[in-house]
Amino acid sequence: MKEHYDVIIVGSGLGGLVSAIILAKEGYSVCVLEKNNQYGGNLQTFVRDKTIFDTGIHYIGGLGEGQNLHQYFKYLGIIDKLNLKQLDENGFDIISFEDDKIEYPHAQGYENFVHQLEKYFPEEKENIEKYCEKLQSICDSFPLYNLESEGKYDNEILTLNAKETIDAFTQNEKLKAVLAGSNFLYAGIPDKSPFYVHALIVNSYIQSSWRCINGGSQITKQLLKQLKKHGGEFYKHKEVTRFDVENHKVNSVEMKDGTKVSGTYFISNIEPKTTLKMAGEENFRKPFFNRIQSLEGVLSAFSLYIVFKPETFKYINHNYYHFKKSSEVWTAHEYDEDSWPKTYMASMNASKKNEVWADGMTFITYMKFDDVLPWSNSFNTTVEKNDRGESYEEFKTRKAAKFLTEIEIKFPEIKDCIQSVYTSTPLSYRDYIGGDNGNMYGYVKDSNNPMKTLIPSKTKLENLYLTGQSINMHGVLGVTIGAVVTCSEIVGKEYLITKINQATE
Ligand SMILES: Cc1cc2nc3c(=O)[nH]c(=O)nc-3n(C[C@H](O)[C@H](O)[C@H](O)COP(=O)(O)OP(=O)(O)OC[C@H]3O[C@@H](n4cnc5c(N)ncnc54)[C@H](O)[C@@H]3O)c2cc1C
Repeated sequence: MKEHYDVIIVGSGLGGLVSAIILAKEGYSVCVLEKNNQYGGNLQTFVRDKTIFDTGIHYIGGLGEGQNLHQYFKYLGIIDKLNLKQLDENGFDIISFEDDKIEYPHAQGYENFVHQLEKYFPEEKENIEKYCEKLQSICDSFPLYNLESEGKYDNEILTLNAKETIDAFTQNEKLKAVLAGSNFLYAGIPDKSPFYVHALIVNSYIQSSWRCINGGSQITKQLLKQLKKHGGEFYKHKEVTRFDVENHKVNSVEMKDGTKVSGTYFISNIEPKTTLKMAGEENFRKPFFNRIQSLEGVLSAFSLYIVFKPETFKYINHNYYHFKKSSEVWTAHEYDEDSWPKTYMASMNASKKNEVWADGMTFITYMKFDDVLPWSNSFNTTVEKNDRGESYEEFKTRKAAKFLTEIEIKFPEIKDCIQSVYTSTPLSYRDYIGGDNGNMYGYVKDSNNPMKTLIPSKTKLENLYLTGQSINMHGVLGVTIGAVVTCSEIVGKEYLITKINQATE
C-alpha cells in the first residue's frame, strides 16, 4: 500500500466498489480498504457441504438489454461477464399463503404481469393495470433510475405511503396482499414504507429478474477485475478505526493493525452512524450527528440454509414470499416467540452443473436484534473467530427447528431431502457487514417524514463522502445508483451520466 491515494474508500460493499471503479476510470488513484476476508459486503457467498449460498443477493432486476442496471453494469465493464439465469417469465416471485392453495405469480413484463394475475382476479384487470401504470409513472420521476441527470420528482411522491397507495387500487383484500406480497424486499412497515421504494424495487424486477449462477460474489469478482484494470488497489483484513480530521478535512485513515494511509478524497461505504463516530462527533453539527445516531435501522433477518441430498429436490426457477395469513402481509415483522415466523422468502442458487436438481435452498425471515441480545457482546467472523457459546448454538437450533416446521407445511417433501442445515442470525449480519444491529437494508424510510432519513452523500467535512445502502436506496440497483450520486459530487453528474449512457463496452 502506498502512503497516499487520491481516493480512499472504506468498505468493499457494492457501493464502495462501484465508486472505486467510477473514479479509477476517471484517472484517480484509488484504494479500497475492507475489514473482512471476503470483499463485497452483502454480495458475499459462503460454501457448506460443497454448496454455495448467497448471503444478501438472491435476485437482481433491470439487467435486460436496454434496462437501467444493464447500462450501469455495461459502463462498469461487467455486464457481459456475469453468469445469469433469468427467472420464470410468468412468475419470478410467487406470493402464497398458508390458508390458500393458490400460488399468485408476479410475472415479468407489464402486460404479462397483468395477464398472469388476471387469471386469479378476472374482475380486477383494470385495477391491476392502474397499479402497473402508477408503478411506472413513479419510476419515471427518478432521473438516475432512467439514466438522466436532470430530475423532476417532488416531495409529494416521497410522501406517498406504500400500503395506502396499493390498497387504494382495489377492494379485493387478497389482491391487496398479493400486490404487496414481496414487501420483504424493503421490510415493509404499514404506516411508514414509502410507495416510491416499493415502485423502484418492484418495477425493476417486473422489467426482468435474474439469478446469479453460482452466487452473487461473481459481481464482486468482476468489479475487482475492472478496478484492477483501471489501476485501483484493494486490501482486505484492513479494518478502518478512525478518520483523522483537521480543519474540516480528513487527512488519513487509521486501521486496526496500526497502519495509516492518507488521501485527497475519502468515501465511506460503511454504516453512517459508525462513520460519523470514527470522524469525531465534534466535527459535525450536533443536530445532524444526533439525527443520524437516532435513525431506526431496518429489521434484521434469520436465514436458514439447507443443503439437499443429491438429486432429491428439484430446482425451482422462482422465489416464494410465503405468509401464514394474507391479513399479515404488512405486519409479519410483528411477532412473538410463539407466532414467529409469520412469513419467509425462499430462494435457491442456480447452478450451471445441474439444471434439474437443486443443491441448496435459502429461507429468510425477519428477526429482531433483541432476540439475540444475550449474545450481543460476542463477535464472530472468519477473520476474528470467536465462540458465542453453547446457549447461542442452542438458540439457533431451536429457531431452525421452528422455522423448518413452518417450511414443511408449504414444502412437505423437503424433510426427506435435507442433508444438512445452517443458519445465520442478526449477529452474523452485524459482524460481517457492520450495520447497526444487523439491519438488513440500512435505515427505515418514513413516508410521513421523508427528510428525516435523508442522508446527503456529501458531508460537512469537505472531502468526506458517503455511499452504500443507508444513503439512497438499498439493493443492487439502488446502491449502484447511489454510488453514481456519490461520485457525481466529485466528477459532476451530467458529465458522469453522459459517460454512462455512452458506454458500449
Ligand atoms: C438478507 C438480505 C437479502 C438481500 N437480498 C437482495 C436481493 O435479492 N437483491 C438485491 O438487489 N439486494 C438484496 N439485498 C440488499 C443488498 O445486498 C445490499 O443493499 C447491498 O449489497 C449493500 O451494499 P453496500 O454498498 O451498502 O455495502 P455493504 O454490503 O453494507 O458492505 C459494507 C462493507 O464495508 C465493510 N466494512 C464495514 N466496516 C468496515 C471498517 N471499519 N473498515 C473496513 N471495512 C468495513 C464490510 O465488511 C462490508 O464489506 C439483500 C440484503 C440482505 C441483508
